[in-house]
Amino acid sequence: MFEFIFLGTSASAPSVHRGLSANIVSFRDYRFLIDCGEGTQRQILRSGVGFRRLNRILITHGHLDHILGLAGLLSTFARWEAVDQLQIWASPWALDRIHDLLFGVVLRGARPPVQVDLIPIEAGTILEDPDLRLEAFPVRHRGKGTFGFAFEQTAHRPFLTERAAELNLPEGPIRRELASGRPVQLPDGTEIQPDQVLGPPRRGARLVHVGDCGSTKGLQEPCSEADGLVIEATYLESDAELARNFGHLTARQAAELAAESGVGHLYLTHISRRYRESQIRDEAQEVFPNVTVARDFDRFRIRRSGAEIDHIEVED
Ligand SMILES: [Zn+2]
Ligand SMILES: [Zn+2]
Repeated sequence: MFEFIFLGTSASAPSVHRGLSANIVSFRDYRFLIDCGEGTQRQILRSGVGFRRLNRILITHGHLDHILGLAGLLSTFARWEAVDQLQIWASPWALDRIHDLLFGVVLRGARPPVQVDLIPIEAGTILEDPDLRLEAFPVRHRGKGTFGFAFEQTAHRPFLTERAAELNLPEGPIRRELASGRPVQLPDGTEIQPDQVLGPPRRGARLVHVGDCGSTKGLQEPCSEADGLVIEATYLESDAELARNFGHLTARQAAELAAESGVGHLYLTHISRRYRESQIRDEAQEVFPNVTVARDFDRFRIRRSGAEIDHIEVED
């Protein structure tokens, strides 16, 4: 299960209700910040999440509404010592700009307060461990070097408790051994193989994040069977020409991608101030029913079979 927190859901400039792009993905001990628009550090504080372990930052692309917050975040880390190392993953083009921002403007020759690693992204797997695989894939948007991110929990074999009960297996270490794929010997000498109590492999939860995006061409494969798809919907169809000119999607295009890709639930973000939230939702729902237009501080749990929605109350 993944937890996804929207910290900023506005396109291009902040509004009274929406901050600039930033999101947190949590999975077990991992925490990823995706994009870091201006004002992100305050959004992190307001969300109640805090800075701890927030040392992996994935940047979709180098436009200013997605990176300016890195400057403030780094200066705060200098004082708060919340992390001792910061990894920033982005395309080489975006990293160039981020390098200028952090080392040129913020640090101006001073030593970074924490180790800062700028890591160039190429399409493919960028992180893999026994529980999680993270892949980057190219996205079309204005300018160069835009990436989407697919998080996938590794497939696992469920432990069949009814079978264990039939075999009179006591709760505790014996069941744990079998669940981790190791055979056990019972006190009476009977050997039990993991296959006797494990079901067929089930794929894990899949969460796909696409930031700014000018065309959905080629995204059906990376988005396929996503339990949750987070993607921009900056415009409505009535302004499709503006969307094309600025390299953004309409709500309808985002919904079509979700329908074509067999997505579980669609979360729309990067919302323009020119529309009401209901207009974006209605347009998308004509094509794809399971749609949420995200608001700042919305939190969602993405499970294999779908998602649960919880809102965090924020005091002003
Ligand atoms: Zn943007
Ligand atoms: Zn952009």
